[in-house]
Amino acid sequence: MTIGEEVTLDALPLREDLRGKTPYGAPQLDVPVRLNTNENPYPPPPELVADVAEAVRAEAAELHRYPDRDAVALRQDLADYLSVSTRVVLSEANVWAANGSNEVLQQILQAFGGPGRSALGFEPSYSMHPIIASGTRTEWVPAPRRADFTLDTAAAASVIRERRPDIVFVTSPNNPTGGSIPLDELRAVLDAATGIVVVDEAYAEFSSQPSAVGLLADYPAKLIVSRTMSKAFAFAGGRLGYLAAAPAVVDALQLVRLPYHLSRLTQAAARAALRHADATLDSVHKLAAERDRVVEALAGLGFDPVPSDSNFVLFGPFADPQAAWKSYLDRGVLIRDPGIRGHLRVSIGTPEENDAFLEASKEVSR
Ligand code: PMP
Repeated sequence: MTIGEEVTLDALPLREDLRGKTPYGAPQLDVPVRLNTNENPYPPPPELVADVAEAVRAEAAELHRYPDRDAVALRQDLADYLSVSTRVVLSEANVWAANGSNEVLQQILQAFGGPGRSALGFEPSYSMHPIIASGTRTEWVPAPRRADFTLDTAAAASVIRERRPDIVFVTSPNNPTGGSIPLDELRAVLDAATGIVVVDEAYAEFSSQPSAVGLLADYPAKLIVSRTMSKAFAFAGGRLGYLAAAPAVVDALQLVRLPYHLSRLTQAAARAALRHADATLDSVHKLAAERDRVVEALAGLGFDPVPSDSNFVLFGPFADPQAAWKSYLDRGVLIRDPGIRGHLRVSIGTPEENDAFLEASKEVSR
């Protein structure tokens, strides 16, 4: 018997707005082919593993001391990476980092949202946005996308003008649908917004569209671009997310961040991983080519895949997506049921994993 087992969740003095909720999370099942959380399927190369291990070993000798609270060296490395990849010169003052971009987003909502404030997002999109809004007591305002999941920017601008949210989320490429928003359309959203616009670029490296970082100089008091090392950088287990914005935004986030939120081990490991960016990002081209192959093969099997600019594909139609999800699982292939009528989402894996997924696709119940 576990101590305290007799106490139920209902018996605790939980916040009323959290009662009856279920925690976010895709099933973590031990199956042969895991294509459900948009991870990079390629493990880090041995040189990176060795470098991370050495960096962490050196930090271990300093663990009696708190880490650099401002993570300045790591932020400078991230600024250097963004400067090279977006051709926009950024400094450490433009970059903030936290334990995954989820924590970055939470800090943004803590600073710019909260009770009496609202955040708007275009659904379907990343389901953590409304959950983080709820956790920070920010009112969530769902706005629609077109039936083909693209963003109708004229409609988006008008709902923003009407609702005047404190925060607007634009996910580009959008999870779970896969498409990106062109920069001129993003300008229409930014022009309509009176508050903060967060462009969630968790999958930016897979996209052919330029980054919203290119708009920072034009919208310094509105735009925040959030990024992560979880996807293209193959560092999901390391937990490192970051953002690019005006230095004042970074100052605002310092007001809500917990002191020493990024451990010495995290900072050292992320810096070591960034030194191998060229090697890890090599996988991006392979994954994009595999994505195109999977899309074509799905279409050949009579599916209707949604055009993707990312490392995952939303596809259908399924009469009963839940039953179809289970029939993939029965064949050893774990994909995602994002709760969109008639659709399932598959992350792009290694060629062998994608082949296993495509084989299963021939047999699953439609
Ligand atoms: N944004 C989007 C759009 C995502 O899909 C994810 C991960 N699924 C995240 C943010 C958060 O990723 P992490 O916390 O690992 O950086």
